[in-house]
Amino acid sequence: MTPEPAGIVVVGASLAGLRGAEALRRRGYAGPLTLVGAEPHRPYDRPPLSKHVLVGELEADATRLPELAPLHARWRLGSPAIALDRSARALRLADGTALAYDKLLIATGAEARAWPAETGGRLSGVFTLRGRDDAAALRAAVQARPRRVLVVGGGLIGCETASCLRDLGLAVTLVDPHSTPLAAALGTFVGGVVAECLRDVGAEFRPGTMVRAFEGDAAGRVARARLSDGGTIETDLVIAALGATRATGWLQGAGLRADPGGVTCDAACRVLDADGAPCPDIYAAGDVARWPIPLYGNRLVSVEHWGNAVEQAGHAARNMVAPPDDQRPYQHMPAFWSSQFGINIKLAGLTAGADALAVVQGTRASRRFLAVYGRNGRSIAALSFDQARWLPAYAQAITAGSAFPPIVDATDQPRIETAAPGFPPPRAAAPAPSRSETVHA
Ligand SMILES: Cc1cc2nc3c(=O)[nH]c(=O)nc-3n(C[C@H](O)[C@H](O)[C@H](O)COP(=O)(O)OP(=O)(O)OC[C@H]3O[C@@H](n4cnc5c(N)ncnc54)[C@H](O)[C@@H]3O)c2cc1C
Repeated sequence: MTPEPAGIVVVGASLAGLRGAEALRRRGYAGPLTLVGAEPHRPYDRPPLSKHVLVGELEADATRLPELAPLHARWRLGSPAIALDRSARALRLADGTALAYDKLLIATGAEARAWPAETGGRLSGVFTLRGRDDAAALRAAVQARPRRVLVVGGGLIGCETASCLRDLGLAVTLVDPHSTPLAAALGTFVGGVVAECLRDVGAEFRPGTMVRAFEGDAAGRVARARLSDGGTIETDLVIAALGATRATGWLQGAGLRADPGGVTCDAACRVLDADGAPCPDIYAAGDVARWPIPLYGNRLVSVEHWGNAVEQAGHAARNMVAPPDDQRPYQHMPAFWSSQFGINIKLAGLTAGADALAVVQGTRASRRFLAVYGRNGRSIAALSFDQARWLPAYAQAITAGSAFPPIVDATDQPRIETAAPGFPPPRAAAPAPSRSETVHA
């Protein structure tokens, strides 16, 4: 009697895991399919958590992702994978069970960087925001009308939450080590406009400031933050928006190239072993994956972008069911969006290393513009600040490797404004403040 095949196991039951599983079925994979998830929930969407859920327009449990294809899958939710034994082709789950696989898709995403326990991270009232349960707890704390909310970190999640909290009429202070919010991700030219938006809505922005520690009251609730400049801020609710690390701890000892910056893949999304050879039966996709990106000279990148999780999972699934001699490279133009202060921000491309910026549509003064980032005379990214009409055209030009700036004779833009993008020097850069691209040389 032939033993039953173990089939494909997807570790991480969120956006990339779900879309990857659907793509496997769509591509005709009919064998056993298991999704393993650390959280007890079926896959849900994270972008609304720092937007609609926080302001109370949507309940945290109303964010479930639609299932777009019949999966006929076994769900193993609420028990994370804690170890991978490649020689036995098996995973160990936290509940003590072992799970065999023929092929594995790693889609364990990222985890919010927590505030250290020794400097107040365990005080009640100190939150991070990554998952649905975090969002529900934070929403409940916000409904209790704290006297002042302190947002630590002016990345995308820090800015989005500050914007929501002001919509709710709460007093908000945002501190960031750089001179503007979003400096590491988008540079201080664009960050400066966001700083103006923050101040216009009545949030206090404290640039060049780091929190050293939180102090609590007798009941163990956060009461104040001690700052790098010796000052203090009284606060009864803190959102630590310090960025994320990749959920790769469970892969320790598996002999793969995995660390808190991601699990390294080849161009076909196959995970590399410790010697740098692709594992033919292990793939990765989404926030957890770090891969060589052809559009940017094959340098290794990992991004925390919704669109990448969907597209890369689909691509990995395609290669998982394809023969070994038909493994296609993942060609992707990174892109994300963010809503804050009633503004829609969209980025196409990677800004890292940009040495020039041109406002090619609209104006900075009007706070409606499209800016292109350049590096060594080449266009590398385009950002729309409430002005997305032309973004696809610029994205296309970037994909084609156009010079900087790529389109100079647009009829509705007689004059192009150029500026320095204003990225902080690498050494001065704080730990990635939010879900900006993470680029590893
Ligand atoms: C608050 C918030 C707002 C966002 N807003 C935007 C936005 O506006 N635009 C945008 O482009 N992107 C946004 N993003 C990013 C986007 O949501 C992510 O890129 C996307 O969720 C990545 O999907 P993923 O499946 O790769 O990883 P995740 O969504 O992180 O999912 C990974 C899953 O794996 C599980 N897991 C981890 N370890 C294990 C284990 N050992 N065993 C089993 N399961 C495990 C986790 O619990 C999790 O459910 C936002 C993210 C957050 C947190």
